[in-house]
Amino acid sequence: MRDKNSLTNREPPKQLNIETSAARPDIDRISMLSEFGNIAPPIHLSTSFKRDADCSDLSAYSYSTFDNPNRHWLEETIRNLESGKAAVATGSGMAAIAAVLSWLKRGDRLIAAHDLFQGTARLLNDQFRSWGIETDFVDTTDLNEVASAIRSETRMIWLDSPSNPMLRVSDIAAVSELAKTRGIRVVVDGTFAPFLIQKSLDLGADATIYAATKYIAGHSDVVSGLAVFREADELYQKARAFQINVGAVPSPMDCWLVERGLRTLAVRFARQCDTALAVARFLEKHDSVEAVYYPGLENNPDYELACRQMNNRFGGMVSFLVNEGRIAASKIVESTKLFLNATSLGGVESLIELRAASPVQNLGQGTGFNVPENLIRLSIGLEHPFDLIADLEQALSQLGN
Ligand SMILES: *Cc1c(COP(=O)(O)O)cnc(C)c1O
Repeated sequence: MRDKNSLTNREPPKQLNIETSAARPDIDRISMLSEFGNIAPPIHLSTSFKRDADCSDLSAYSYSTFDNPNRHWLEETIRNLESGKAAVATGSGMAAIAAVLSWLKRGDRLIAAHDLFQGTARLLNDQFRSWGIETDFVDTTDLNEVASAIRSETRMIWLDSPSNPMLRVSDIAAVSELAKTRGIRVVVDGTFAPFLIQKSLDLGADATIYAATKYIAGHSDVVSGLAVFREADELYQKARAFQINVGAVPSPMDCWLVERGLRTLAVRFARQCDTALAVARFLEKHDSVEAVYYPGLENNPDYELACRQMNNRFGGMVSFLVNEGRIAASKIVESTKLFLNATSLGGVESLIELRAASPVQNLGQGTGFNVPENLIRLSIGLEHPFDLIADLEQALSQLGN
């Protein structure tokens, strides 16, 4: 066995940059827990753990649904990176969303964006409504609309920022300010803008959730979710109870994959943001493109807010409208060679999708918002930006042929 003290006696430097903390999630602690001095964390698959005679040590692991080493490390890692007080890792992004929403009681209302993630819209309309929790869908980028939707029963405001697929940016600080004086909780789905560029808790939100399936895990090979909380209060405790009581838990293997994703997130995401901006600029100038939705373009209505709130990077998603309608749009989606025609986002491979034709979109949103028929959504991967632009150029040139 290696001398553990050689690793653990070193004082870690204070106030590391977030990229360093993401790349090195408390590596000394993880090494200490292994007997071989491994620098990558092990995977603990055991579902049950030996206990003392009267189970007096309540912090010890007992059964994997309650807690296990890999989930614990992942929750601690994301909690640190997000500067939160508590975190809950779940078996999917949707489970993280449901866990946070489970704080609401019959008769409560919540405000959410009309263009929020369609899975969240379905969860609210199909499940929570029948449990007596109603949602008011508004344009959350308009502070006045949010303010006038607040009723005495309103207990939560749910923001998706940037939103999908219009990539609108809601003012997290301003909404949190509005909510705080009224005792309303603010939750941000930050899937499109992880903590490297947007720290929702610092901006005043009570919780932020991620589909770790997307950028955080980052390789299109694991479904997983995270919820991080500003305080370890009731909102967190309800989510923890939901995770355990429902069994909405990620496997140790999934936790390990997400934790590995976190280590390279900073470089992947920076590259994806930079390429997305280049792609958006290319599309903006193209004759066959009617509109480009990307908060990093100077003429975008959310540009100034996005600069402030997203630390001058704007995410890896780009949406655009094609001039000649849906048929032209589907022709483009069929014609790209590098961009794969598939849903989801955040992986290393670039994806293209005619959003109105997406199977998930066809399940219906029920929020009063309809995706434009000719909207194409891009998820930018890690290919060279010139190759991606050339691919779009050749696909767009198919129009009119
Ligand atoms: C994918 C996604 C989710 C849901 O995550 P799953 O892991 O698929 O359950 C939630 N919010 C946003 C913005 C997403 O893109």
